Amino acid sequence: MEAAAGPGNPAGIGHVILILSGKGGVGKSTISTELALALHHAGKKVGILDVDLCGPSIPRMLGVQGRAVHQCSAGWVPVFVDREQTVALMSVGFLLEQPDDAVVWRGPKKSALIKQFVCDVAWGPLDYLIVDTPPGTSDEHMAALEALRPYSPLDALVVTAPQAVSVGDARRELTFCRKAGLRVIGVVENMSGFVCPHCTECTSVFSQGGGEELARLAGVPFLGSVPLDPQLARSLEEGRDFIREFPSSAAFPALSAIAQRV
Ligand code: ADP
Repeated sequence: MEAAAGPGNPAGIGHVILILSGKGGVGKSTISTELALALHHAGKKVGILDVDLCGPSIPRMLGVQGRAVHQCSAGWVPVFVDREQTVALMSVGFLLEQPDDAVVWRGPKKSALIKQFVCDVAWGPLDYLIVDTPPGTSDEHMAALEALRPYSPLDALVVTAPQAVSVGDARRELTFCRKAGLRVIGVVENMSGFVCPHCTECTSVFSQGGGEELARLAGVPFLGSVPLDPQLARSLEEGRDFIREFPSSAAFPALSAIAQRV
């Protein structure tokens, strides 16, 4: 699908935040989704660019799987999540014929699509563009950096699970940020203990405090620990707005505090 040219589309993006992690499955898409929703509920205009081309999960998490993107004279129109059109999402998931289709592309084709996602999507003015990336450091990261750098300073938020193996990979991600010239706005520890819904006691399912220690050693801010929360998991499965619907759920305070600190 070729997009109409949309010169200068990303020029009105205020603040770009790349969400990074060393490992898959630690909650990068979850943090991207909930951060976007929390910023939206704080009155911000938010775009989400899903460059996890081989595992695009954000359309489902936001309940817009199967929607189509259209073209207008300014380029591709992203999918709007809310009626007021203040949360815009672009993902390869909208271009696949079947949600389970696999993207088996070499680097140059992935890079070209990411460039189009940045330059040929009619993002309009945005306060924040949240960029969900694949785990590690890949062609997708390099393409996103190259495409976005002319328009805005680039910030990074690194997500880790508390276990040592995940924290070790996150440390490599921080090294990548330094080499790539990204400002790290902080580290988030996700899946950090389980709060019992009956007695509210917190059980450390994995080891504890790895994210905070990593942030301290790297000299970057620690933005908070998000507990394992079955209600959050269900909301993501069902494409619901966790931030609006479940303010008394265990993960809510940490997620909204993170949004206030970015
Ligand atoms: P990644 O993007 O790093 O691969 P995801 O955000 O897709 O990871 O998360 C993996 C799975 O874990 C998802 O099914 C998600 O619903 C679940 N999950 C992530 N964070 C939490 C949390 N804090 N509480 C409960 N479930 C979570």
